[in-house]
Amino acid sequence: MADTLIRKSARGSLALPNLADYSATCASFNWGVERLALRGLPGGGINIAFEAVDRHVQNGRGGQVALRCLSRDGVASEFTYAGLAAETNRFANMLAAIGVGRGERVFSLLGRVPQLYVTALGTLKAGAVFCPMFSAFGPEPIRARLELGGARVLVTTPQLYQRKVAALREQLPKLEHVLLVGDAAGAGIGTRSLATLMAKASDSFEIPPTGGEDMALLHFTSGTTGRPKGAVHVHAAVLQHYVTGRLALDLHPGDVFWCTADPGWVTGTSYGIIAPLVIGATLIIDAEEFDAERWYGILQEQKVDVWYTAPTAIRMLMRLGDELPARFDLSRLRFMASVGEPLNSEAVIWSQRALGRPFHDNWWQTETGGIMIANFAAMDIKPGSMGKPLPGIEAAIANVTRDGRLEFVDSPDEQGQLVLKSGWPSMFRGYLGEEERYRKCFIGDWYLSGDLARRDADGYYWFVGRADDVIKTSGHLIGPFEVEDVFMQHPAVAECGVIGKPDPVAGEIIKAFVALKPGFEPDAALHDALLAHARKRLGAVVAPKEIEFAPSLPKTRSGKIMRRLLKARELGLPEGDTSTLENA
Ligand code: ATP
Ligand code: MG
Repeated sequence: MADTLIRKSARGSLALPNLADYSATCASFNWGVERLALRGLPGGGINIAFEAVDRHVQNGRGGQVALRCLSRDGVASEFTYAGLAAETNRFANMLAAIGVGRGERVFSLLGRVPQLYVTALGTLKAGAVFCPMFSAFGPEPIRARLELGGARVLVTTPQLYQRKVAALREQLPKLEHVLLVGDAAGAGIGTRSLATLMAKASDSFEIPPTGGEDMALLHFTSGTTGRPKGAVHVHAAVLQHYVTGRLALDLHPGDVFWCTADPGWVTGTSYGIIAPLVIGATLIIDAEEFDAERWYGILQEQKVDVWYTAPTAIRMLMRLGDELPARFDLSRLRFMASVGEPLNSEAVIWSQRALGRPFHDNWWQTETGGIMIANFAAMDIKPGSMGKPLPGIEAAIANVTRDGRLEFVDSPDEQGQLVLKSGWPSMFRGYLGEEERYRKCFIGDWYLSGDLARRDADGYYWFVGRADDVIKTSGHLIGPFEVEDVFMQHPAVAECGVIGKPDPVAGEIIKAFVALKPGFEPDAALHDALLAHARKRLGAVVAPKEIEFAPSLPKTRSGKIMRRLLKARELGLPEGDTSTLENA
């Protein structure tokens, strides 16, 4: 795809594995708790919240800031590790006091407020299961998740409760406790004030001996390809969060870290809460939504060392050009990473130019619980590539035969399904209530990701597209990403989504939906210029036959372009599950 290579000087900053020999390191990686300098519970077992919070207090680092919460006009509140330990103890005691115990589900419907973090970690301490939801969900997706997850507790705000949950209460007999953050007065029957309950609870708590295989988290997938699934995760996942935070995000103790993911998505938990705290970083928490000037301001003012964001935000920053970031001092930024969607090569090259350092793409899924493939700090970047598998992860490219076997693809650059050898700690242990759907994700020891990719001769993985989105045109199999990447290299293009459209001759023809940068007119001249650009780079077969301008593209709340929706609308078919659609 891109012939550019962004070279890095080796920085042997990690005492972890030898990254020089990937395949050997990946296969023989030792996930031992002690080896990773974690501790395990004093009485045996392992608990995510203990590793994330209490271990630091026991190690004499309780005074360090764990959470720094920003409001519109500056720092709103801070919690040290010791303070967070006390608050999460209170939460765990509060749960016990209202009769909520191990394995029971505690849901949150909150924005990025401190109580979200206290709820997540306090729930884990109690041995209960944490399940976050996007606060922007409407009533139906909320009801469906609370019901499927068997929620006993919901932590939310009075406003969100009144607008989205109150009317559903009768349909949710299992939901016993609704705990309200902030002013609970007048919120109605069947709710209680979280602050009042917390005030009655003690701030010392002994974590029950949760085992590595105890259920800890329930995460719903983004619903990009269909009905969202509830992926079950266990306490042992913390080992993965630790290793991947160190290796794929280059996080070190004491770093200031900012993850912009919404708390309702798996990234918001794995890397918005757990990984940085387990490593001992200071988390920046911004309650506001995307605003380019504000974001650059936060990177400067908060002296952010490591920043983790998503392609959709990066594309919005790119859209606004190079002059804006030049007004800010970003010299403190050491590492920037991106996840959630393919990161176009253009975005990596732009960030190197405009921000002075490249974005490091990494790939994973709700099901994998943590980062699987990444561009490491010390690794040369091939812009447009997802990088290489992490230590402890064995990845491969394979095809599923008609009789249901896996045929591995060994030759470089040949595309197939990305599969992962089972057994890493943060792997999902099931889709809640959907045994059959879970079973279908595996052939023998191998987990089928549902994404197509290829591996080049240097061992770098390249995303091709979701298996469902791949286009068959005139006998060729084409991944939408390859076509979109070329459009993104055109100066007028801000966003692009590509679909296959049934055609009697070619099987499918390629159609591109394009949103433009400010200052460009969607006229016939630009249409023809874009077609010519695509033909020149891609050749006549792979270049789209049709281009349609759109003000913006439909996305999930986790920022993914919903190609299946573009296609359904184009063909006049039913839209399917749109519960996670952001900009309906
Ligand atoms: P659903 O499974 O409900 O359709 P989803 O797959 O979008 O939704 P997530 O688990 O949030 O739900 O997203 C994982 C998917 O996101 C991956 O399977 C992949 O398609 C895409 N993805 C994540 N990171 C990257 C990346 N770096 N490059 C390309 N695609 C990525
Ligand atoms: Mg998926």
